[in-house]
Amino acid sequence: MVEIDVKNLIDNGPEKLVMAINNAINSERTKEAFEITKVLRTFIFDSPLKAEISISKSGSPVSKISGTVKWIGDRRDGKKGIEIFLDSRENQKPFIIGIDNLESAKFNSEKRLLLISQVPLVCPVCKGIIKPGDVKIKCPACGVVAHKDHFLEYLKIHGTCPSCGKRLSTKSKK
Ligand SMILES: [Zn+2]
Ligand SMILES: [Zn+2]
Repeated sequence: MVEIDVKNLIDNGPEKLVMAINNAINSERTKEAFEITKVLRTFIFDSPLKAEISISKSGSPVSKISGTVKWIGDRRDGKKGIEIFLDSRENQKPFIIGIDNLESAKFNSEKRLLLISQVPLVCPVCKGIIKPGDVKIKCPACGVVAHKDHFLEYLKIHGTCPSCGKRLSTKSKK
């Protein structure tokens, strides 16, 4: 099988996902061994693994980022799921991307490519789509996600969350 569905694995953390990727690649029976180093619960890919992370609205992609996966680990924000350290062509520096709002996730073992599609999140300030790699912030009261710059700018002017209207202290934000 060339393409496997890994959507249900992502929310369970890195372990099962990486195992599925590894098994799928090994079933291709290529001569080259696929090398992964495990450090605590972070999996470092010593062999190339590519990822394409897109955001699609009614089936058509509105934003896409692709690159080489350096590691996959647990999320550090306490949420279930994974974080991917991606060295992308679009961004100059590798960056960490937390995977959520999953629409679909597939792994193509022949291409060694992880295909992730996310449901778009709309910034409550600028009404634009929050793209992968954008710096985000979450309202501590309602949990709405916004562009960090836009949220903090709004907070500076209005003193409230743009979504729930709750008064928030700017001091608690970094
Ligand atoms: Zn925005
Ligand atoms: Zn809020």
